[in-house]
Amino acid sequence: MIVMKFGGTSVQNEEAIGRVVSIVRGRLAEKPVVVVSALSKVTRLLVKMAEDAENGNADSVRTSLAQLRKRHYDVCDAMLGGELLEQTKDKVDDFCKQLGTFVEGVCQIGELSPRSKARIMATGELLSSTIVSAAMNAAGLRCRWVDARRLIITDDNYLNARPDLGVSAANICRIIPRESKGADVVLTQGFISSTTEGGPSVLGFEGSDYSAAIIGMALDADRVEIWTDVDGIRTSDPRVVSPTAKIGRVSYEEAAQMAYLGARVLHPMTIGPARGRNIPIMVLNTMNPACEGSTVAMYDGKTGGPKAVAFLRDIDYVEISAPDNTNSVEMISDVFSILKENKLEISLISHSVGRLSFTLESGQPGLASAVRTLSARYTLVHYRDKSQLSVVGRELEVCKGISDDIKACGKVYMMSQGASMMDVSAVVDRDSLDKMVNELHKILFNG
Ligand code: ADP
Ligand code: ASP
Ligand code: MG
Repeated sequence: MIVMKFGGTSVQNEEAIGRVVSIVRGRLAEKPVVVVSALSKVTRLLVKMAEDAENGNADSVRTSLAQLRKRHYDVCDAMLGGELLEQTKDKVDDFCKQLGTFVEGVCQIGELSPRSKARIMATGELLSSTIVSAAMNAAGLRCRWVDARRLIITDDNYLNARPDLGVSAANICRIIPRESKGADVVLTQGFISSTTEGGPSVLGFEGSDYSAAIIGMALDADRVEIWTDVDGIRTSDPRVVSPTAKIGRVSYEEAAQMAYLGARVLHPMTIGPARGRNIPIMVLNTMNPACEGSTVAMYDGKTGGPKAVAFLRDIDYVEISAPDNTNSVEMISDVFSILKENKLEISLISHSVGRLSFTLESGQPGLASAVRTLSARYTLVHYRDKSQLSVVGRELEVCKGISDDIKACGKVYMMSQGASMMDVSAVVDRDSLDKMVNELHKILFNG
Protein backbone atom coordinates (compact mmCIF):
# COMPACT_ATOMS: atom_id res chain seq x y z
CA MET A 1 0.00 0.00 0.00
CA ILE A 2 0.97 3.65 -0.37
CA VAL A 3 0.25 6.88 1.52
CA MET A 4 -0.68 9.96 -0.51
CA LYS A 5 -0.71 13.31 1.26
CA PHE A 6 -2.31 16.35 -0.37
CA GLY A 7 -1.43 19.79 1.01
CA GLY A 8 -3.60 22.91 1.30
CA THR A 9 -3.18 24.20 -2.26
CA SER A 10 -3.82 20.70 -3.61
CA VAL A 11 -7.33 20.80 -2.09
CA GLN A 12 -7.93 24.56 -2.26
CA ASN A 13 -11.05 24.47 -4.46
CA GLU A 14 -13.26 22.22 -6.59
CA GLU A 15 -10.80 22.10 -9.51
CA ALA A 16 -7.93 21.12 -7.25
CA ILE A 17 -10.02 18.47 -5.48
CA GLY A 18 -11.06 17.16 -8.91
CA ARG A 19 -7.38 16.70 -9.75
CA VAL A 20 -6.81 14.91 -6.44
CA VAL A 21 -9.63 12.48 -7.20
CA SER A 22 -8.20 11.65 -10.60
CA ILE A 23 -4.64 11.24 -9.25
CA VAL A 24 -5.91 8.89 -6.54
CA ARG A 25 -7.99 6.97 -9.09
CA GLY A 26 -4.79 6.27 -11.01
CA ARG A 27 -3.25 4.61 -7.92
CA LEU A 28 -6.13 2.41 -6.70
CA ALA A 29 -4.23 -0.80 -7.40
CA GLU A 30 -1.69 0.29 -4.80
CA LYS A 31 -4.30 0.58 -2.02
CA PRO A 32 -3.85 4.26 -1.15
CA VAL A 33 -4.36 5.77 2.26
CA VAL A 34 -5.01 9.44 1.56
CA VAL A 35 -4.10 12.18 4.03
CA VAL A 36 -5.41 15.72 3.48
CA SER A 37 -4.60 19.15 4.87
CA ALA A 38 -7.14 21.90 5.38
CA LEU A 39 -8.11 23.97 2.32
CA SER A 40 -5.35 26.54 1.75
CA LYS A 41 -5.36 29.45 4.22
CA VAL A 42 -8.10 27.88 6.36
CA THR A 43 -5.76 27.08 9.28
CA ARG A 44 -4.67 30.74 9.25
CA LEU A 45 -8.32 31.84 9.32
CA LEU A 46 -8.94 29.54 12.31
CA VAL A 47 -5.95 30.96 14.17
CA LYS A 48 -7.29 34.46 13.58
CA MET A 49 -10.73 33.35 14.76
CA ALA A 50 -9.25 31.88 17.95
CA GLU A 51 -7.26 35.04 18.68
CA ASP A 52 -10.21 37.32 17.92
CA ALA A 53 -12.30 35.24 20.32
CA GLU A 54 -9.66 35.57 23.02
CA ASN A 55 -9.80 39.34 22.57
CA GLY A 56 -13.59 39.32 22.80
CA ASN A 57 -13.91 40.49 19.20
CA ALA A 58 -17.29 38.81 18.58
CA ASP A 59 -18.03 40.55 15.28
CA SER A 60 -14.78 39.42 13.67
CA VAL A 61 -15.34 35.90 14.96
CA ARG A 62 -18.79 35.83 13.35
CA THR A 63 -17.42 37.16 10.06
CA SER A 64 -14.69 34.51 9.98
CA LEU A 65 -17.15 31.78 10.80
CA ALA A 66 -19.44 32.87 7.97
CA GLN A 67 -16.44 32.94 5.60
CA LEU A 68 -15.40 29.47 6.68
CA ARG A 69 -18.88 28.03 6.13
CA LYS A 70 -19.30 29.76 2.76
CA ARG A 71 -15.90 28.65 1.46
CA HIS A 72 -16.73 25.01 2.18
CA TYR A 73 -20.37 25.23 1.05
CA ASP A 74 -19.22 26.72 -2.27
CA VAL A 75 -16.90 23.78 -2.92
CA CYS A 76 -19.70 21.33 -2.02
CA ASP A 77 -22.14 23.12 -4.36
CA ALA A 78 -19.64 23.05 -7.20
CA MET A 79 -18.73 19.37 -6.84
CA LEU A 80 -21.66 17.44 -5.45
CA GLY A 81 -25.35 16.95 -6.14
CA GLY A 82 -28.51 15.33 -4.76
CA GLU A 83 -28.47 13.54 -1.45
CA LEU A 84 -24.67 13.50 -1.17
CA LEU A 85 -24.63 17.31 -1.45
CA GLU A 86 -27.22 17.65 1.33
CA GLN A 87 -25.46 15.12 3.59
CA THR A 88 -22.06 16.73 3.09
CA LYS A 89 -23.36 20.25 3.70
CA ASP A 90 -25.05 18.99 6.87
CA LYS A 91 -21.70 17.62 8.08
CA VAL A 92 -19.97 20.90 7.20
CA ASP A 93 -22.71 22.74 9.05
CA ASP A 94 -22.31 20.48 12.11
CA PHE A 95 -18.56 21.14 12.30
CA CYS A 96 -19.15 24.88 11.88
CA LYS A 97 -21.88 24.92 14.55
CA GLN A 98 -19.70 23.03 17.04
CA LEU A 99 -16.88 25.45 16.30
CA GLY A 100 -19.25 28.44 16.63
CA THR A 101 -20.47 27.32 20.06
CA PHE A 102 -16.93 26.72 21.20
CA VAL A 103 -15.47 30.05 20.05
CA GLU A 104 -18.47 31.87 21.52
CA GLY A 105 -17.46 30.36 24.87
CA VAL A 106 -13.87 31.53 24.36
CA CYS A 107 -15.19 34.99 23.50
CA GLN A 108 -17.23 35.15 26.68
CA ILE A 109 -14.47 34.10 29.05
CA GLY A 110 -11.79 35.96 27.07
CA GLU A 111 -9.27 33.18 27.61
CA LEU A 112 -7.66 30.89 25.06
CA SER A 113 -5.67 27.93 26.33
CA PRO A 114 -3.36 26.04 23.93
CA ARG A 115 -5.80 23.13 24.27
CA SER A 116 -8.72 25.28 23.12
CA LYS A 117 -6.68 26.70 20.27
CA ALA A 118 -5.77 23.18 19.10
CA ARG A 119 -9.43 22.24 19.11
CA ILE A 120 -10.30 25.26 16.97
CA MET A 121 -7.41 24.68 14.54
CA ALA A 122 -8.39 21.04 13.99
CA THR A 123 -11.65 22.06 12.30
CA GLY A 124 -9.91 22.83 8.97
CA GLU A 125 -8.83 19.25 8.36
CA LEU A 126 -12.17 17.84 9.54
CA LEU A 127 -13.96 20.01 6.99
CA SER A 128 -11.59 19.42 4.06
CA SER A 129 -11.50 15.66 4.56
CA THR A 130 -15.31 15.51 4.71
CA ILE A 131 -15.56 17.23 1.34
CA VAL A 132 -12.72 15.32 -0.36
CA SER A 133 -14.24 12.05 0.85
CA ALA A 134 -17.64 13.03 -0.60
CA ALA A 135 -15.99 14.08 -3.88
CA MET A 136 -14.33 10.66 -4.14
CA ASN A 137 -17.61 8.88 -3.51
CA ALA A 138 -19.36 11.12 -6.05
CA ALA A 139 -16.71 10.08 -8.58
CA GLY A 140 -17.44 6.40 -7.93
CA LEU A 141 -14.51 5.65 -5.60
CA ARG A 142 -15.57 3.83 -2.44
CA CYS A 143 -13.93 6.07 0.13
CA ARG A 144 -13.89 5.44 3.90
CA TRP A 145 -13.39 8.54 6.12
CA VAL A 146 -11.33 7.84 9.23
CA ASP A 147 -10.88 10.27 12.12
CA ALA A 148 -7.11 10.83 12.57
CA ARG A 149 -7.72 11.72 16.22
CA ARG A 150 -8.25 7.97 16.78
CA LEU A 151 -4.94 7.19 15.09
CA ILE A 152 -2.29 9.68 16.23
CA ILE A 153 -1.84 9.95 20.01
CA THR A 154 0.39 12.68 21.41
CA ASP A 155 1.70 14.37 24.53
CA ASP A 156 -0.09 17.42 25.92
CA ASN A 157 2.04 20.00 24.14
CA TYR A 158 -1.26 20.79 22.40
CA LEU A 159 -0.12 23.03 19.55
CA ASN A 160 3.16 21.34 18.74
CA ALA A 161 2.33 17.90 20.01
CA ARG A 162 4.82 15.02 19.91
CA PRO A 163 3.25 11.70 18.94
CA ASP A 164 3.77 8.50 20.87
CA LEU A 165 4.92 6.59 17.79
CA GLY A 166 4.39 3.14 19.35
CA VAL A 167 0.80 3.79 20.45
CA SER A 168 -0.03 5.63 17.23
CA ALA A 169 1.40 2.85 15.06
CA ALA A 170 -0.62 0.25 16.99
CA ASN A 171 -3.83 2.26 16.44
CA ILE A 172 -3.08 2.73 12.74
CA CYS A 173 -2.36 -0.99 12.25
CA ARG A 174 -5.57 -1.92 14.07
CA ILE A 175 -7.92 0.64 12.51
CA ILE A 176 -6.82 1.25 8.91
CA PRO A 177 -6.85 -2.38 7.64
CA ARG A 178 -10.29 -2.84 9.20
CA GLU A 179 -11.65 0.33 7.60
CA SER A 180 -10.14 -0.49 4.22
CA LYS A 181 -12.21 -3.67 3.85
CA GLY A 182 -14.62 -3.13 0.97
CA ALA A 183 -13.22 0.35 0.28
CA ASP A 184 -11.05 1.60 -2.59
CA VAL A 185 -9.52 4.37 -0.54
CA VAL A 186 -9.12 5.18 3.15
CA LEU A 187 -9.03 8.92 3.74
CA THR A 188 -7.93 10.70 6.88
CA GLN A 189 -6.70 14.09 8.09
CA GLY A 190 -3.16 15.32 8.48
CA PHE A 191 -2.09 17.57 11.36
CA ILE A 192 -4.77 16.61 13.90
CA SER A 193 -4.39 14.21 16.79
CA SER A 194 -5.47 13.49 20.39
CA THR A 195 -3.56 13.52 23.62
CA THR A 196 -3.26 10.39 25.74
CA GLU A 197 -6.14 11.77 27.84
CA GLY A 198 -8.29 12.20 24.72
CA GLY A 199 -7.90 15.98 24.47
CA PRO A 200 -7.43 17.84 21.18
CA SER A 201 -3.90 18.37 19.85
CA VAL A 202 -2.19 19.30 16.57
CA LEU A 203 1.27 18.48 15.23
CA GLY A 204 2.37 22.08 14.55
CA PHE A 205 2.10 24.15 11.38
CA GLU A 206 2.55 22.14 8.18
CA GLY A 207 2.33 18.96 10.28
CA SER A 208 0.28 16.97 7.76
CA ASP A 209 3.47 15.69 6.10
CA TYR A 210 4.45 14.25 9.46
CA SER A 211 1.05 12.54 9.86
CA ALA A 212 1.54 10.91 6.45
CA ALA A 213 5.01 9.67 7.37
CA ILE A 214 3.75 8.17 10.65
CA ILE A 215 0.95 6.34 8.83
CA GLY A 216 3.42 5.15 6.19
CA MET A 217 5.79 3.87 8.84
CA ALA A 218 3.05 2.08 10.79
CA LEU A 219 1.72 0.30 7.71
CA ASP A 220 5.17 -0.28 6.21
CA ALA A 221 4.02 1.50 3.06
CA ASP A 222 5.75 0.99 -0.29
CA ARG A 223 6.18 4.77 -0.42
CA VAL A 224 4.84 8.03 0.96
CA GLU A 225 3.81 10.55 -1.68
CA ILE A 226 3.73 14.23 -0.71
CA TRP A 227 1.60 16.03 -3.29
CA THR A 228 2.14 19.78 -3.33
CA ASP A 229 2.40 22.77 -5.67
CA VAL A 230 5.97 22.43 -7.00
CA ASP A 231 7.75 19.97 -9.31
CA GLY A 232 9.58 18.18 -6.50
CA ILE A 233 12.35 19.32 -4.17
CA ARG A 234 14.31 22.13 -5.83
CA THR A 235 17.74 23.63 -5.43
CA SER A 236 16.04 26.50 -3.55
CA ASP A 237 12.61 27.90 -2.82
CA PRO A 238 11.14 28.86 -6.21
CA ARG A 239 9.10 31.60 -4.53
CA VAL A 240 12.37 33.44 -3.87
CA VAL A 241 14.92 32.12 -6.36
CA SER A 242 14.58 31.89 -10.12
CA PRO A 243 15.43 29.71 -11.92
CA THR A 244 15.80 26.65 -9.67
CA ALA A 245 16.42 23.05 -10.71
CA LYS A 246 14.75 19.86 -9.54
CA ILE A 247 16.75 17.55 -7.29
CA GLY A 248 15.85 14.12 -8.62
CA ARG A 249 17.08 12.12 -5.67
CA VAL A 250 18.15 13.21 -2.23
CA SER A 251 19.19 11.19 0.81
CA TYR A 252 17.07 11.12 3.99
CA GLU A 253 19.85 12.93 5.83
CA GLU A 254 20.13 15.75 3.29
CA ALA A 255 16.35 16.15 3.09
CA ALA A 256 16.09 16.36 6.89
CA GLN A 257 18.89 18.92 6.99
CA MET A 258 17.23 20.97 4.24
CA ALA A 259 13.88 20.89 6.04
CA TYR A 260 15.33 21.88 9.43
CA LEU A 261 17.24 24.70 7.76
CA GLY A 262 14.10 26.11 6.14
CA ALA A 263 13.26 24.23 2.91
CA ARG A 264 9.75 23.62 4.12
CA VAL A 265 8.52 21.70 1.14
CA LEU A 266 8.68 18.89 3.73
CA HIS A 267 7.95 19.29 7.43
CA PRO A 268 11.26 18.54 9.22
CA MET A 269 9.81 15.66 11.28
CA THR A 270 8.64 13.80 8.16
CA ILE A 271 11.94 12.14 7.42
CA GLY A 272 12.46 10.23 10.70
CA PRO A 273 9.60 7.73 10.49
CA ALA A 274 10.25 7.05 6.79
CA ARG A 275 13.98 6.56 7.23
CA GLY A 276 13.35 4.17 10.13
CA ARG A 277 11.75 1.67 7.74
CA ASN A 278 13.50 2.76 4.55
CA ILE A 279 10.28 3.98 2.96
CA PRO A 280 10.89 6.32 0.00
CA ILE A 281 9.21 9.72 0.16
CA MET A 282 8.25 11.21 -3.20
CA VAL A 283 7.50 14.89 -3.63
CA LEU A 284 5.06 15.42 -6.50
CA ASN A 285 3.09 18.25 -8.07
CA THR A 286 -0.72 18.05 -8.03
CA MET A 287 -0.84 20.69 -10.80
CA ASN A 288 1.60 18.69 -12.94
CA PRO A 289 1.18 14.99 -12.08
CA ALA A 290 3.14 13.89 -15.15
CA CYS A 291 6.35 15.28 -13.62
CA GLU A 292 8.11 12.49 -11.77
CA GLY A 293 9.11 14.74 -8.88
CA SER A 294 11.83 14.00 -6.33
CA THR A 295 12.60 10.92 -4.29
CA VAL A 296 13.97 10.99 -0.76
CA ALA A 297 15.65 7.67 -0.05
CA MET A 298 18.80 6.00 1.29
CA TYR A 299 22.07 7.65 0.31
CA ASP A 300 23.13 6.17 -3.04
CA GLY A 301 26.83 6.64 -2.27
CA LYS A 302 27.30 8.73 -5.38
CA THR A 303 26.51 12.37 -5.06
CA GLY A 304 28.36 14.68 -2.68
CA GLY A 305 28.60 18.48 -2.81
CA PRO A 306 26.04 21.29 -2.56
CA LYS A 307 22.47 20.23 -3.27
CA ALA A 308 20.41 23.24 -2.20
CA VAL A 309 20.35 26.70 -0.67
CA ALA A 310 17.88 26.79 2.22
CA PHE A 311 17.02 29.73 4.44
CA LEU A 312 15.05 30.77 7.51
CA ARG A 313 13.77 34.29 7.05
CA ASP A 314 12.49 34.83 10.59
CA ILE A 315 15.03 34.06 13.24
CA ASP A 316 16.18 35.55 16.51
CA TYR A 317 19.94 35.89 16.73
CA VAL A 318 21.46 36.09 20.20
CA GLU A 319 25.06 36.97 21.08
CA ILE A 320 26.18 36.38 24.66
CA SER A 321 29.47 37.47 26.13
CA ALA A 322 31.21 36.97 29.47
CA PRO A 323 34.70 37.89 30.71
CA ASP A 324 37.46 35.99 28.85
CA ASN A 325 38.42 33.96 31.93
CA THR A 326 34.92 32.44 32.16
CA ASN A 327 35.00 28.65 32.06
CA SER A 328 33.55 27.82 28.67
CA VAL A 329 31.90 24.54 29.68
CA GLU A 330 30.21 26.22 32.63
CA MET A 331 29.00 29.05 30.45
CA ILE A 332 27.64 26.74 27.77
CA SER A 333 25.92 24.45 30.26
CA ASP A 334 24.41 27.44 32.10
CA VAL A 335 23.10 29.04 28.92
CA PHE A 336 21.72 25.76 27.60
CA SER A 337 19.98 24.88 30.83
CA ILE A 338 18.16 28.22 30.62
CA LEU A 339 17.20 27.50 27.01
CA LYS A 340 15.96 24.07 28.07
CA GLU A 341 13.92 25.42 30.98
CA ASN A 342 12.18 27.67 28.48
CA LYS A 343 11.58 24.81 26.01
CA LEU A 344 13.56 26.52 23.25
CA GLU A 345 14.99 24.88 20.14
CA ILE A 346 18.08 26.41 18.60
CA SER A 347 19.23 26.20 15.01
CA LEU A 348 22.86 27.38 14.59
CA ILE A 349 25.47 27.77 17.30
CA SER A 350 28.99 29.17 17.45
CA HIS A 351 31.41 29.50 20.37
CA SER A 352 34.70 31.21 21.13
CA VAL A 353 36.40 32.26 24.36
CA GLY A 354 33.85 34.14 26.48
CA ARG A 355 31.43 34.32 23.55
CA LEU A 356 28.47 32.22 22.52
CA SER A 357 26.05 33.02 19.73
CA PHE A 358 23.08 31.11 18.43
CA THR A 359 19.97 31.41 16.29
CA LEU A 360 16.43 30.33 17.04
CA GLU A 361 13.50 30.15 14.71
CA SER A 362 11.23 33.08 15.60
CA GLY A 363 7.92 32.73 17.35
CA GLN A 364 9.02 30.45 20.21
CA PRO A 365 7.06 31.54 23.27
CA GLY A 366 9.81 30.94 25.85
CA LEU A 367 12.36 33.31 24.30
CA ALA A 368 11.43 36.52 26.14
CA SER A 369 11.79 34.83 29.51
CA ALA A 370 15.12 33.18 28.54
CA VAL A 371 16.50 36.51 27.32
CA ARG A 372 15.52 38.16 30.64
CA THR A 373 17.28 35.48 32.69
CA LEU A 374 20.38 35.45 30.46
CA SER A 375 20.62 39.27 30.45
CA ALA A 376 20.85 39.24 34.23
CA ARG A 377 23.99 37.04 34.04
CA TYR A 378 25.72 38.00 30.79
CA THR A 379 26.11 40.81 28.32
CA LEU A 380 23.52 39.93 25.71
CA VAL A 381 22.55 41.35 22.34
CA HIS A 382 19.30 40.13 20.83
CA TYR A 383 18.88 40.82 17.09
CA ARG A 384 15.46 40.57 15.50
CA ASP A 385 16.44 41.80 12.03
CA LYS A 386 18.53 38.81 10.89
CA SER A 387 17.91 35.74 8.74
CA GLN A 388 19.97 32.65 8.11
CA LEU A 389 20.92 30.90 4.91
CA SER A 390 22.53 27.50 4.41
CA VAL A 391 24.23 25.51 1.71
CA VAL A 392 23.13 21.90 2.18
CA GLY A 393 24.66 18.73 0.80
CA ARG A 394 26.86 15.76 1.66
CA GLU A 395 30.61 15.91 2.20
CA LEU A 396 30.78 19.69 2.22
CA GLU A 397 34.01 19.44 4.20
CA VAL A 398 35.86 18.49 1.04
CA CYS A 399 34.24 21.18 -1.11
CA LYS A 400 36.42 24.23 -1.47
CA GLY A 401 35.27 27.80 -1.20
CA ILE A 402 31.69 27.51 0.09
CA SER A 403 32.22 29.96 2.93
CA ASP A 404 33.97 32.36 0.52
CA ASP A 405 31.03 32.05 -1.86
CA ILE A 406 28.65 32.99 0.96
CA LYS A 407 30.77 35.93 2.07
CA ALA A 408 31.03 37.16 -1.52
CA CYS A 409 27.26 37.65 -1.53
CA GLY A 410 26.98 40.05 1.43
CA LYS A 411 27.69 40.79 5.08
CA VAL A 412 27.87 37.76 7.38
CA TYR A 413 27.42 38.01 11.19
CA MET A 414 28.04 34.40 12.14
CA MET A 415 29.03 31.34 10.18
CA SER A 416 29.01 27.66 11.05
CA GLN A 417 29.74 24.34 9.46
CA GLY A 418 27.23 21.83 10.79
CA ALA A 419 28.59 18.91 12.81
CA SER A 420 27.21 16.46 10.24
CA MET A 421 29.25 18.28 7.54
CA MET A 422 26.00 18.62 5.64
CA ASP A 423 25.58 22.37 5.90
CA VAL A 424 27.51 25.60 5.88
CA SER A 425 25.27 28.30 7.30
CA ALA A 426 25.45 32.03 7.91
CA VAL A 427 23.53 34.74 9.74
CA VAL A 428 22.80 37.72 7.48
CA ASP A 429 20.69 40.88 7.43
CA ARG A 430 17.05 40.11 6.68
CA ASP A 431 17.01 43.01 4.24
CA SER A 432 19.66 41.35 2.09
CA LEU A 433 18.45 37.76 2.38
CA ASP A 434 16.67 37.48 -0.97
CA LYS A 435 19.54 39.09 -2.86
CA MET A 436 22.14 36.92 -1.12
CA VAL A 437 20.22 33.68 -1.61
CA ASN A 438 19.80 34.43 -5.33
CA GLU A 439 23.46 35.32 -5.80
CA LEU A 440 24.67 32.31 -3.86
CA HIS A 441 22.35 30.00 -5.78
CA LYS A 442 23.66 31.43 -9.03
CA ILE A 443 27.30 30.87 -8.00
CA LEU A 444 26.65 27.30 -6.86
CA PHE A 445 24.20 26.04 -9.46
CA ASN A 446 23.97 28.32 -12.47
CA GLY A 447 27.55 29.46 -12.65
P1 ADP B 1 1.63 22.19 1.02
O1 ADP B 1 0.53 23.13 1.29
O2 ADP B 1 1.37 21.29 -0.14
O3 ADP B 1 2.09 21.46 2.24
P2 ADP B 1 3.91 23.94 1.26
O4 ADP B 1 3.62 25.37 0.98
O5 ADP B 1 4.02 23.51 2.68
O6 ADP B 1 2.84 23.08 0.47
O7 ADP B 1 5.26 23.48 0.53
C1 ADP B 1 5.47 23.77 -0.82
C2 ADP B 1 6.27 25.03 -0.97
O8 ADP B 1 7.56 24.85 -0.38
C3 ADP B 1 6.58 25.44 -2.38
O9 ADP B 1 5.53 26.17 -2.97
C4 ADP B 1 7.86 26.24 -2.23
O10 ADP B 1 7.61 27.63 -2.25
C5 ADP B 1 8.38 25.89 -0.84
N1 ADP B 1 9.78 25.46 -0.85
C6 ADP B 1 10.75 25.92 0.00
N2 ADP B 1 11.93 25.38 -0.28
C7 ADP B 1 11.74 24.54 -1.33
C8 ADP B 1 12.60 23.68 -2.08
N3 ADP B 1 13.90 23.56 -1.80
N4 ADP B 1 12.05 22.96 -3.08
C9 ADP B 1 10.75 23.06 -3.38
N5 ADP B 1 9.89 23.86 -2.71
C10 ADP B 1 10.37 24.60 -1.70
N1 ASP C 1 -3.36 22.78 7.89
C1 ASP C 1 -2.15 22.79 8.68
C2 ASP C 1 -1.36 24.06 8.39
O1 ASP C 1 -1.78 24.88 7.59
C3 ASP C 1 -1.32 21.56 8.50
C4 ASP C 1 -0.76 21.34 7.10
O2 ASP C 1 -1.26 21.94 6.15
O3 ASP C 1 0.17 20.56 6.98
O4 ASP C 1 -0.33 24.25 8.99
MG1 MG D 1 3.46 21.79 3.74
